[in-house]
Amino acid sequence: MAQFLFITDLDNTLVGDDAAMKQLNAKLLHHRDTYGTQIVYSTGRSRTSYEALYQEKGLIPPDAVVNGVGTALYIGEQEKPHTPWSERLQEGWDRDRIQAITAHFSDLTPQPASEQNPFKISFFLSPEIAPTLVPELERQLKAAGFTVTIIYSGSLDLDILPIQANKGLAMSYLQELWQVPSNTTVACGDSGNDRAFFERQDERGIIVGNAMQELLEWHHANPSPHRYLAQASYAAGILEGLNHFGLI
Ligand SMILES: [Mg+2]
Repeated sequence: MAQFLFITDLDNTLVGDDAAMKQLNAKLLHHRDTYGTQIVYSTGRSRTSYEALYQEKGLIPPDAVVNGVGTALYIGEQEKPHTPWSERLQEGWDRDRIQAITAHFSDLTPQPASEQNPFKISFFLSPEIAPTLVPELERQLKAAGFTVTIIYSGSLDLDILPIQANKGLAMSYLQELWQVPSNTTVACGDSGNDRAFFERQDERGIIVGNAMQELLEWHHANPSPHRYLAQASYAAGILEGLNHFGLI
């Protein structure tokens, strides 16, 4: 047994089965106390929405949290986003100018302020309009010199993010910061935006048994000995995967 970097998505990965999560949390806490294992949450949730879940589910205090699909990183108990990460995201990003371009699209409905951050511009968009609007938005942003990431998910949410903002790059940043090799990092997820965890190097990947079709299809099309698809769902699937890799 040795130290590792544990990084997990929250909704429908760590969170979903309270009893299994309790069991997993006890093991993780023990591992952190004994070996110095780091525990990181990486979620699409905004800070506000994450804090509500943290209270509601009694999550264990993490060593870091990545919010808004990689757009904000919080280390330890710090209340402000980690500046060096924000500086990386700033490259090629101009929130005001990007927002001005989105104003050409009347079908984009801004999400509440709690869902926005300096590196995330979020809208609601209906699935009927998305297939024509998204490519045109992409074209206009490109024409203005912006290479950004546009994510349309859940047939509702449209997020515009800096190109460097994703769960995988935020994970790599933490590996660098804490000097943890990729082969002692384990990342867990259930949906499309978690793919960024699994596309990097030789990180150990755990896909929970209840994963969404979009991730399962990609997993089967891109097999890797470093990635494990659990039989069990949610936190029980994570436990199964940690055992599979001999980490706990
Ligand atoms: Mg999820």
